[in-house]
Amino acid sequence: MSAKQTDQIKQAYQVFFPEGRIGSYVAGELIAGEGHDISLVNPATGDVFLTYKDATENVAQQACAAAVAGQKVWGALSHAERGRLMQEAGRLLRANIEPLAQLESISAGKPIRDCRGEALRVAEMFEYYGGWTDKLYGNVIPVPSGHLNYTRREPFGVVLQITPWNAPMFTCGWQIAPAICMGNAVLLKPSELTPLSSLAVAQLAEQAGIPKGVINVLVGYGHTIGQAALSHQAVKKVVFVGSPATGGKIAAAAAVRGIPCVLELGGKSANIVFDDADLERASIGAQAAIFGSAGQSCVAGSRLLVQRGIYEKFVKMVAEGASKIRVGDPAMPETEVGPIQNAKQYQHIRDMIDSGVREGAQVVDEHSSKDALQLGFYVRPTVLKNVTNDMAVARTEIFGPVVVAIPFDTEEEAVRIANDSDFGLAGAVWTKDLGRAFRVADKVKAGTFWINMYKVINVASPFGGYDASGHGRSSGVEALQEYTQVKSVWVETAENPNQSFGYSSSTSVI
Ligand code: NAD
Repeated sequence: MSAKQTDQIKQAYQVFFPEGRIGSYVAGELIAGEGHDISLVNPATGDVFLTYKDATENVAQQACAAAVAGQKVWGALSHAERGRLMQEAGRLLRANIEPLAQLESISAGKPIRDCRGEALRVAEMFEYYGGWTDKLYGNVIPVPSGHLNYTRREPFGVVLQITPWNAPMFTCGWQIAPAICMGNAVLLKPSELTPLSSLAVAQLAEQAGIPKGVINVLVGYGHTIGQAALSHQAVKKVVFVGSPATGGKIAAAAAVRGIPCVLELGGKSANIVFDDADLERASIGAQAAIFGSAGQSCVAGSRLLVQRGIYEKFVKMVAEGASKIRVGDPAMPETEVGPIQNAKQYQHIRDMIDSGVREGAQVVDEHSSKDALQLGFYVRPTVLKNVTNDMAVARTEIFGPVVVAIPFDTEEEAVRIANDSDFGLAGAVWTKDLGRAFRVADKVKAGTFWINMYKVINVASPFGGYDASGHGRSSGVEALQEYTQVKSVWVETAENPNQSFGYSSSTSVI
């Protein structure tokens, strides 16, 4: 790493961490961990730029105590006041888009222009949910007796959120904003590889006036600090965003404690192109679907299903487009695809490409299989053709800029292949036949589906998986439901309650 690059990186994180050290953010203080050293690596060069210590159990204890106290303060504020403070956090986040984007770009390796967009999305999440604090009503239930029965949506208290490395800042805002909107306090455990932007968001929210202890960030490994937090009695719900393998462990640990969990896991989404589609647009859409964020996106359109009559032509269009994508230093404004975030993931992607070739797939553009740059964890956008849906490359989440192109003949076959997957996160169809578009949208099992587009999401619209892609929903009003529990309140309204004490059959005791 050149001296200039080192200086740029230092400048980016010293905006938020002037002393050049990080720790867990608990009740407004950075607490240094006492566990093993964890190094943050610049994905563009492979060089370590910051080392910190894993948080151990005593940090989990302190954070839980801080969150319980913070939640009391937060829950005692009026709904309107909570909304005002969240709006203020949104304003402060907007004012810090550039430093937040720089911070995210150096640690996640994402192109700076993507990071600016993601920082803005985080501000929007606080603004959107800031408007919801006083709008989620309970119901009055028309029970078949004279009683008044109404429901209240109440916070859990303290919720644990565990997030991955691929979109750390986005995921942090995505989960924190709805949780605190409903009056919870949070413990956020970002990936040990990318904790910086979550720490920065927590600091800014607090500067905006959100009380200390409402947002706490635990930095370190999942099996240490993540598990310590998960086993603490103060934690009443866990929301996990990450890989299916870890999701299983989280769900098991939550089940042992008897607490609910939301799982937002991986995908192997089918992007289906029919021969009547606008092929120019579909080709650009197919590239954005898989090569955006270097394919490190849970909803990536990683299986490209193409109708046989246009298969060769369309695959060539996608591969030609892919070869023109500007891969490079994430700090440069023109970069469209940056490096893979970490060495382990880089090796997994390389291994998956090799496995595809061994099974008979063909790399369409040979150039695309070579490293783009000498340093860092770069993988060029890669198109594999002659793939069948039973190959490992079609069944495993590669989580890199690698698309597998699978031919199909009929609508029925396209839907069958799309659904022949353990996952069910997202999908898309490209066709000019409206009836077919709706039929396919109905039949593909996926939590999000697009027609003649790909990858558009919004904080107002529910998001989540079917099958191995998880359960529960984030975003929209559905996220607010996840972050609340329902209480049913019964009120005696009879003039002479004793007369109704025998209970009518329709409102009987359990
Ligand atoms: P991961 O499962 O390895 O790690 C995710 C988080 O879990 C990290 O914070 C990690 O420290 C923590 N963790 C690991 N082991 C743990 C344990 N034993 N106990 C508690 N916590 C533990 O996932 P990753 O590699 O960081 O992220 C990539 C995965 O995330 C992909 O599968 C991707 O599809 C998925 N993802 C899903 C969504 C979604 O919304 N569905 C969004 C982004 C990423």
